Formats: sequence, structure tokens, C-alpha cells
Amino acid sequence: MIAPDLLAWVTAEAVTPEQVVPYVRAVAGSRPRMVGSCVGFDSDGEFVLVGYPMHDPLDVGAMTEAVGQALQIRGLRRITVIGSVRPPQAPEQSIVTEDCYYALPMPPPRPGQKLRNLLRRAGRELTLDRGCQYGDDHLALVQRYLDERHLATGTRHIFRQLSRYLASSAGSLLLSARLADGRLAAFAVGEFAALRTAFYMFSFREPRLAPPGATDLLLAGLLDEARERGHTQMNLGLGVNAGISFFKGKWGAAPFLPYVQATWETSSAGPFSRLRGLFADESEGFAMKKPSGKASGKAFRGPGFWARVRERLLGVPRLLDCVQVEVSSRCPGRCIYCPHTTMREEWDSRDMDMDTFARLWPLMLRSGRAHLQVWGEPLLNPAFFDMAALARKAGCAVSTTTCGLLMNEEVARKLVEGGFDIVAFSLAGTDAASNASRRGVDFDRVCEAVSTLQAVRRSLNSVHLEVHIAYLMLASNMEAVRRLPRLMHRLGVRGAVISTLDYIPTPDLECEGLAPHETEKLARASAVLRETEEEARRLGVAFHWTLPRPDAPGASCRENIFRCVFVAADGYLSPCVYVNLPGRASDPKRRVFGNVRDQDPLAIWEGEEFRRFRNRLASGEPDLPCLTCVKRFES
Ligand code: SF4
Ligand code: SF4
Repeated sequence: MIAPDLLAWVTAEAVTPEQVVPYVRAVAGSRPRMVGSCVGFDSDGEFVLVGYPMHDPLDVGAMTEAVGQALQIRGLRRITVIGSVRPPQAPEQSIVTEDCYYALPMPPPRPGQKLRNLLRRAGRELTLDRGCQYGDDHLALVQRYLDERHLATGTRHIFRQLSRYLASSAGSLLLSARLADGRLAAFAVGEFAALRTAFYMFSFREPRLAPPGATDLLLAGLLDEARERGHTQMNLGLGVNAGISFFKGKWGAAPFLPYVQATWETSSAGPFSRLRGLFADESEGFAMKKPSGKASGKAFRGPGFWARVRERLLGVPRLLDCVQVEVSSRCPGRCIYCPHTTMREEWDSRDMDMDTFARLWPLMLRSGRAHLQVWGEPLLNPAFFDMAALARKAGCAVSTTTCGLLMNEEVARKLVEGGFDIVAFSLAGTDAASNASRRGVDFDRVCEAVSTLQAVRRSLNSVHLEVHIAYLMLASNMEAVRRLPRLMHRLGVRGAVISTLDYIPTPDLECEGLAPHETEKLARASAVLRETEEEARRLGVAFHWTLPRPDAPGASCRENIFRCVFVAADGYLSPCVYVNLPGRASDPKRRVFGNVRDQDPLAIWEGEEFRRFRNRLASGEPDLPCLTCVKRFES
């Protein structure tokens, strides 16, 4: 442990957020300690060394010495070192990521003309409210942000606890941007606990209210604060991606400190710890059946403490947003538009086995979400909850979509306790008549299933699980969607995603889809959806929809294939669910790029052929299955 005065000294000298001790403690609850001239954080056999020596963050000799000392810590299983270079002790197989911190000197350079115009415009519409209380409107804004993004469960959890972070760090400051009528358009959090360096920590904006430049106005406000408090620079965080780097660069921020994170295991797991890794998640107390076959020899150790903090708080995303897994292609339904029904003669009804699922471990470690459903009813797979537990252990948010027929109190309890953050129920109508295309999936039964899950969720005081509706709007049934907000309100459902028939399994169903050239149909659909969205807003439920755009360049795809991947029940990897249907081995549009039973899934993802497929789409010369795919025109 660090004595309180030393702890305060570390924070006072901080140049990176990892050295702001109250911040790290508030979000991770780990124990700070000094190792040589660096601060580190201890967490049950795992140590994170912030290898920026307090006297000089670029002193590599002092960092190397501190790493040597940290490696002597008793019971150490894994170490993560964050510093300006890769530590010489890091073995070859270390997991290394690189980035750099951006900073602005204080006072900052004068903004350019374009930025000044933006600030003027935002300043006319918004008033900055400094050091205010974190209230219901902040909470609602964060909630909307969460509703609209696929984020790891941990991220959602942390964002929901922003008020706790603000309360526990005396150096934090909440800055809110409000419209003339008092509505909250955006807010940001700065950290000023260090003597010389201020930190730009978080910002959220309400896109429907915030005028252009709202986030810039908030940053300007935090810079004013830093100037008044006498800071000499503001750390704007890591580059993260091109968009975020652009925002920082626009202000004149420049990289000032390399960020190299290296993680490695310090001792080989003995038989006992291997078993523990396989069968139990120590932090969450779940018991998992032993996977059979080759994969059972692996220890499934989840992402390290610092990897989690880095993702959740510094906003560094994982390689992938989502790995979508076909856990079962069996289904009791006979929906008229579904290939499970139209291709029933050749359909391969199958479950993924646990051994195949376990081989996705390297992919899940690099993915923000595992969505356990594609074609079929996922709850039919007897290993479904074990799979969800393994994905959670890899640090993924876990979600699923169900037809609802298998829901009962026991299943609902497992979904809640299994850490799912989204469970979606499929509908294609808003009453028994309009939902009739979902043959074999009784409308009232689905509503009852939603109510069962809601009741169990409430009885267990679960705040992490959100119930959604996955709604298919058929062209012949557009008007029915108007009743969806009311239905959601009645069932306590938070959000709905409206899609149209993207996969046309037989020519006679073409009329039920919405192609980019069908402008009249699209205009009707758009009018219905806009009006329904208004109603949803009035009732306080989230309503997301997209339609194909005739003018879309077609060089990207709604399935976001650069950050998502689909894994079929037999282990084959594909860019999306439309290019590998169960039982369609001879389909000329079938595209698979390797099987996890034979190859590392990350190697498949990064393989040349898979890359070529993605790049062809981006270059506007897509492969055969994409040529006629409506997903290229949705936005
Ligand atoms: S419930 Fe889903 S998988 Fe089953 S037939 Fe209907 S659409 Fe297809
Ligand atoms: S455009 Fe291609 S990759 Fe994207 S969803 Fe369609 S078929 Fe799949």
C-alpha cells in the first residue's frame, strides 16, 4: 500500500490518467503501490505497472528497473507494463499494443478560423454550466449513448456509474452544455487533480440536440479551467482511431508521450490453476462444464485488469465490435420469409458444440461483443449458457435474439444471472394478425415471454439486462409498426431495431423487401418510420431504423464487415450471415475463409483472402454475393 501522502504526491505529479490514483481506484478498486520510481496497481496476482517514472516519464532505465522489481512480487501471475517503450523483460509472446498520448500546451494555440466559427455557432446556442450536479438528464444522455452503441458490458457498467467517479475524485469537474430552454445537449468531464497536467476524460453529446461544435465548446471550457488553475498542459488521451485523432489534431494537439502496453504471463499455469481457468471464473463464480477435445487443454484466462480499464475508460476499442455465432440453426418456428422455412428440404439443423465454441477464445478476447444467434433459436443449444459464460469471461458483452417460445422463469433467471446485457425478441407485427407471417411463433406467447423475463429481471434487481425487440418490417405490412412504441411501453421494453427483409430466400418474396431503386416504397416506409419514431420519443423508448438509400455509394456494408465476423455452427468464419447458410455448401455465393477447428480464428480473420473480400467491398468492386445485397445501401 502507498501511504496517503505518497499517494497524493503521485497524483499531483501525474502526466497520464493511469497515474491519477483516485481515478483508477474509483473504476477498478485495485491497490496502488510504488515499485521503484513508478506507481503500479495490484489486483489478485495481476500487476499493472505504470512504467512512466514519476521524475521523468521517458526514463527507460528507471522503467526497466521498476519492471525488474515488479517481477519479484510474490504470487504474480500476469504483468502489464505501460510505458514509453516495450520493456526489455517482455517475452516474445507478450501482447503488445501501441498508441500515443496527445496533449495541448497551456495556454493552447489559437484555434483556426474554421474552429472559431464552430465555437461561435455552438456558443450562440449553448450555455456552459460548470461544476454542476450530475443529474437525471446526464444519466439519460449516457443511457441513450449506451442504447445506440454496441459496447462491452463493463463499459456500460462504468458509464452508468459516472456519478460515483465524479463524487470520489476531488479533482474532477463536470461541464454541461445546455440549450436556452435548459435541455442538456452535451457534457464533458475534466480531471484537474495533478499540479501541471489536466486531463480531458469523457464527453457525451445528444446528437438530436447538440449543434455542431458542442464538443469543441466543452473542450474550450475545460481548457479555460486548466488555464485558470495554472496547468501547463492538457492530456487529451490516446489517439485511438482516425476520427478521434482528427478531433485532437484540429485543436493543435500533438503526440507527446508514446504509449506501449505489454502484457505477459509470468508463470506457467500448473495443473490446478489450469483446471481453475477451465472450469471457473473466479470473479463471477460461474461453473462451466469441461469442453471436450483439443481446446480443453487451454487455460481461458480473461483479459487483464489493465486491458479492461484501457477499454472501458480510455475508450480504446477491441479489434472487433462483434463476433456473431450461430449456436443453433434448429428452430421451432416456420416464419414464411425465413430460409429455415423456405429451404427446409436442404436446411442443416445443427448445434455448435462447446469444443468449437471454445476455439473462438482468441477472437472473443479481441471482440467487444458476442452475439449468440444467427439463423435458428439459440436457446435450443444445451451448451448455450456455458457458451455465454465463456464469452463473458473473455470480456465480451453478450447478447442474443430469441423467438421466445422456450422462455420460462428458469431460462429467464439464467439469462439475467448469465450477464447478458441485451436479450431481443423477434417480431414481424404488433398483434396476432399482423404478426401472422411468423408461423408457429404465437404473438401472445412472445408477449408472455417478454413479461416473464421482465418479471425475473425485476425480482433479481438486475440493471444490466435490457430487453429489446428485433422487428422485421415487411413491405406488405408497414403500417403495423406504428403500434410498436405502445407495445414496447406496455411490455417495459427499452429499445427496438427495425430491419427490412434483406435476405430474399425465394423470388416470390422480393415484393416484401425494399430495394434501393424502389423509391416510392422507400418513401412510404420512411414516412411511417419517422412518424413512429416521434411516438417512440414521446413514450421514451429507443427506436432505431435504417432503410436502403438509392444514392448510397455501396462501398460499405451495414453488417460492418471490417469490425464484425460471423461463425457458423460448424466452425467456418465468414464476413456475414448471408454468405454461409446452413445446408448451402454448393451455393455459388457461399464464402467461408477457414474453420476454427483447423486454424486460429484470428489468423483466419487476418488471412489474405478474408482481407481481399473486405477490401473489394470497400473499393466499390465487391465480390459476387455483395453485388445484389441491399446491406450495401443501408445507412
Ligand atoms: S423464429 Fe427465426 S429462425 Fe425460426 S423460422 Fe422464424 S425467423 Fe427463422
Ligand atoms: S454486402 Fe456482402 S458482406 Fe455485406 S452483408 Fe451483404 S453479402 Fe454480406
